[in-house]
Amino acid sequence: MKRKDIIEFEVDKMEFGGTTVSMLGNKEIHMKGGISGQKVKAAVKKARSKKAEVKMLEILEKSPIETANPCKHFGICGGCTILSVPYEKQLEIKERQVMDLFLNQDIFGFQFLGIEGSPQDRLYRNKMEYTFGDEMKDGPLTLGLHKKGRHIDILTVDGCYLVDQDFIKVLTSTVEYFDEKKLPYYRCMSHKGYLRNLVVRKGINTNELMVNIVTSSQEDFDMTEYKEMLLNLETQAEIVSILHTINDGLADAVQCDELRVLHGRDYINEELLGLKFTISPFSFFQTNTKGAEKLYSIARDFVGDHENKVVFDLYSGTGTIGQVMAGAAKKVYGIELIEEAVVAANNNAKLNGLTNCEFVAGDVAKTVKNFKVKPDLIIVDPPRPGVHKDAIRDISGFGAKEIVYISCNPKTLVLDLVEFKKYGYEVEKVKCMDMFPNTPHVETIVKLKKVN
Ligand code: SAH
Repeated sequence: MKRKDIIEFEVDKMEFGGTTVSMLGNKEIHMKGGISGQKVKAAVKKARSKKAEVKMLEILEKSPIETANPCKHFGICGGCTILSVPYEKQLEIKERQVMDLFLNQDIFGFQFLGIEGSPQDRLYRNKMEYTFGDEMKDGPLTLGLHKKGRHIDILTVDGCYLVDQDFIKVLTSTVEYFDEKKLPYYRCMSHKGYLRNLVVRKGINTNELMVNIVTSSQEDFDMTEYKEMLLNLETQAEIVSILHTINDGLADAVQCDELRVLHGRDYINEELLGLKFTISPFSFFQTNTKGAEKLYSIARDFVGDHENKVVFDLYSGTGTIGQVMAGAAKKVYGIELIEEAVVAANNNAKLNGLTNCEFVAGDVAKTVKNFKVKPDLIIVDPPRPGVHKDAIRDISGFGAKEIVYISCNPKTLVLDLVEFKKYGYEVEKVKCMDMFPNTPHVETIVKLKKVN
């Protein structure tokens, strides 16, 4: 086997993160994508004596486990990769993947509580960020998600299973409206054009909708008619916020140079486990509201009795987890890198009448050691790269009896757990929670106990 060879094989094992490993003769074939049991055609990118890296070209035969009805975009859209696998089976696969990662690091002897599914495996997202473009060169205007493996081709995802009809209505009416106006979409290579993104957010428990149209400043288009069009849509939720964001940033990401409020307010409200949160157009908020309620409930169960305890909420975002604990706790301290999120967290705590929360801005690895108080319990919820080694050292240095680790990346989680062990923390129990059905992601909650 050599570079550029075309090979055919049956996909064997799905690893966490959406990659697969299969055996062909005595070679391990590593590939991005694929579902166990599929027969595929692939091009060899790199070949060594025992291993090869390949790129999938075509699915020759679908897998016997692909018995669910996917949406009409499946296979073309870069969004959901395992939508064709029934939900129960998806959960089984993810649970196995997380267990394997633990075993690979020789982490044994804990209580494994399995995996919990998302309350909804479809229509669960509360936010979508769509991009304007076209599906083929000089084709009609499209608005939606990138095609699988493509940077520029955009698919109008009007049959998407991840969101409810309000999202679809706003999406389709927006693309129709602007297609008629013949405004150019923004090209991320030449940086020319006007229409960039459409961001839709919904307060699932409050029934409030935010529509944010993002453009460059290269045209001076009057959005009044567009706003009226949106307000006349028969959405099930109330549109309480219509925004126009001007973004001239060169990166292919939604940034804000100027925010214009076209209708209502510049935020929506959401409720989680009886607490209120205001969500501003650019702030982080868990994208599966009902799933987040379940995730935080599991975290609260793992924490157990926190009556009158001092709790650290590290990587606190908008302070959701800390506030869920604050009702019973004596005091909650949070650290979060993004200043805006810290301001939101403190405001939210006030809104909820919680006077025992204090969220501060900073990098956990640099600032956690500055806390002079001694926590009884530490909760960490880091981003995908996990907890910095210095932070693990400093967090352990407080000598708290218990640490609850919430992870969106079990690969870095297990490495961090090995590191925590050096400081005397052992894994007591583990539970997975699927916040992102139909995608390869999964959350894992771990309780660590200080043993020496
Ligand atoms: N606990 C929150 C947010 C979790 S997401 C929730 O459940 O909503 C992880 C958060 O860590 C993000 O808000 C990110 O901005 C923040 N973050 C990333 N690196 C950080 C660092 N080095 N120090 C502190 N916060 C960080």
